[in-house]
Amino acid sequence: MTTLPGHSTAAHRAHGWCSHCPGRTVEEEVIAWRSEENDRHRLTTHHRVAPRPARGVAQRA
Ligand SMILES: [Zn+2]
Repeated sequence: MTTLPGHSTAAHRAHGWCSHCPGRTVEEEVIAWRSEENDRHRLTTHHRVAPRPARGVAQRA
């Protein structure tokens, strides 16, 4: 993926857009990052959807 000059590579990789894209604001990008972090935290905290089983202990459905 190529990122346009002046745009955020990380934001484009994570969200597909950044605050420099037309119609986007810095606030929107901040909210997008926060919600992504919240999702990541929720997943790792509650183990509802384990990205990969740790040492084979998460075998029960
Ligand atoms: Zn952009």
